[in-house]
Amino acid sequence: MPKIREMSPHLADLIAAGEVVERPASVVKELCENSIDAGAKSVTVEIKNGGMTEIRVTDDGCGMSPEDVETAFLRHATSKIYSERDLEAIATLGFRGEALAAISSVSRVELLTREPGAGEGTRLLLEAGVKTDKAPAGAPAGTTIYVRDLFFNTPARQKFMKNDRAESSAVGVAVVRLALSHPEVSIRYLRDGREEYHTPGDGRLQSAAYCTLGREFAMGLLEVSNKTDTMEATGYTSTPGAARGNRSWQFFFVNGRAVKSKLLQAAVEQAYKNSLFTGRFPVCVINLKMNLSAVDVNVHPTKMEVRFSDERAAFDTVYWAVRGALEREDGPGELKISQGTLKVTGAAQNTGSFQKSAAAKPRGDFFKSVSAEDYRSGKVGHVVSGEKIEFRDVVKSGYQTKLDLPAPSKIKAPEAYPEYPAPGAAGEGGKTHAASGTWAADGASEAEEIPAAEAEVREWRMVGEALNTYIIVERGDSIFLIDKHAAHERILFDKLKAQKREPSAQMLLTPVVCALSGEDERTILENLELLEKLGFEIDEFGPSTLALRQVPMDMDLSDPRGTLEEIAGKLRLGGKRDVEAMGDDILHTVACKAAIKAGKRSEPEELSDLIEKVLSGAVRYCPHGRPVSMELTKYQLDRSFKRA
Ligand code: ADP
Ligand code: MG
Repeated sequence: MPKIREMSPHLADLIAAGEVVERPASVVKELCENSIDAGAKSVTVEIKNGGMTEIRVTDDGCGMSPEDVETAFLRHATSKIYSERDLEAIATLGFRGEALAAISSVSRVELLTREPGAGEGTRLLLEAGVKTDKAPAGAPAGTTIYVRDLFFNTPARQKFMKNDRAESSAVGVAVVRLALSHPEVSIRYLRDGREEYHTPGDGRLQSAAYCTLGREFAMGLLEVSNKTDTMEATGYTSTPGAARGNRSWQFFFVNGRAVKSKLLQAAVEQAYKNSLFTGRFPVCVINLKMNLSAVDVNVHPTKMEVRFSDERAAFDTVYWAVRGALEREDGPGELKISQGTLKVTGAAQNTGSFQKSAAAKPRGDFFKSVSAEDYRSGKVGHVVSGEKIEFRDVVKSGYQTKLDLPAPSKIKAPEAYPEYPAPGAAGEGGKTHAASGTWAADGASEAEEIPAAEAEVREWRMVGEALNTYIIVERGDSIFLIDKHAAHERILFDKLKAQKREPSAQMLLTPVVCALSGEDERTILENLELLEKLGFEIDEFGPSTLALRQVPMDMDLSDPRGTLEEIAGKLRLGGKRDVEAMGDDILHTVACKAAIKAGKRSEPEELSDLIEKVLSGAVRYCPHGRPVSMELTKYQLDRSFKRA
């Protein structure tokens, strides 16, 4: 008896469904893509219970004829491509002909459709992919698809679903992507009967961004645009100051298709190089247009990945578009083309002072100095700030790693502690340096010295504070240099960790409301249980908005949104790590932020407490693994001075 048999179409559909229909959000994405492909001017998405019990997508598109309705649900049935050649230039969002088959195989579907010219429409019912009824029916022009009881016949998949809130938040993100990639279509999103978004469909990206991402987001955007012979990048990017704690506000579209692309992500982030601190990510909505044949969209069943035939060109087009927007905003560094290399000198070159000095200069047109033609043809290289941008390396090495905490050797105090104030901030009436990345040593002031008598009792003497960062302490025959921030971070972290068994939290008198991206909101909601264990109490407050009602004891509340974003980023990265490690990681964030803040008022008692803990050996490494102190012995010094 032969062992190999062809699968039944239903089994094949179920397998395909596993890839295409991962969760309610994927159903919404596929249905909306069909509506947009059908030429709809407006699309309404409604979900109930996170989309698990009901999803309804209604459009005013071209509708389907009675003959076509059943075919539409067959696997590999499509009206969008007919021949092999069509595959080379796909102009529609769909083309694989498997979405409706996949969706209907794992749910109960009701379709109501009418072609605009037809007198009568059709109603079709399917259950687990099998037709149960078909009849003529009155219907508005266009198509409505109801998807009920998703995964009712695949309990294994159902188990993977998160709570309703998390699922609806994922649907929200999918809708936002569609709305931003198609501002010419009016998109309305209702969740459990409540309207969350409604874009006007006026064709303006800014309107769509305003309606979906909020005013704050839409107002802080810089326009991006760069056209070359083969590609065009348009859209918006954020001022460096509006950057976020993770990447969930980065949107990329290629020919109107929402994509995930490390390449484009790297292009944008490279453009911000030197103007963003480690751990901050630009916000952007970027649409890259190119010849349909220059991009392969048939890479993955969900069609979220694409392959560019010319990666370098895609990278460059986006890189220079963003760079141009930033230069226009901040005033350009001087552009000089010399011996085949393009160099940005002046303001942009000086890492530490980019923002400050750049802002003082007048606006200018970056692209006047270098033509798209020139940099594409390779006549000019890609050297910025004297450093070569190796886009391949960036992509290959996995840009992701940047999200990880920086390796000890790479840490530079100014970047790691952007908000740390100038020395003597407390003593000088609270004068602090703005968090602009400038880290001038000129403002250095005398450290608060601890009275000698007191110091004797403690057997150590604080000599002073240097470079904003290091406390110098003398004890016995040694001098200790203590990284103040690192030590403080460690102390707070240990304290928070100790509280884990017995969490101590602060109840907030008035809840702190934070507007987050849909993705961040979802991540937080998915992990509420863990966060509650750490002392948080978080509620939903509105579309993509959360209310913090309680936070861990020492959490700094000056930037709650930043903290939540960072936590969300870590939770997403964490994926498969155990809860314990995850919890520690979140406490790092809380401790780190609090330490920065606490640094602003380095009271003498606080410093001596810190020194005490470090010298007693209780604190050796910061939560990131960097050492917090260094010892220089008299013997070492004497040897250096040739005294010994
Ligand atoms: P694909 O989009 O890849 O063609 P689908 O399974 O998503 O595959 O859809 C199958 C076909 O059903 C489409 O090619 C289209 O002809 C038709 N169709 C689906 N949704 C709609 C809609 N909202 N309006 C009109 N036609 C639709
Ligand atoms: Mg489709």
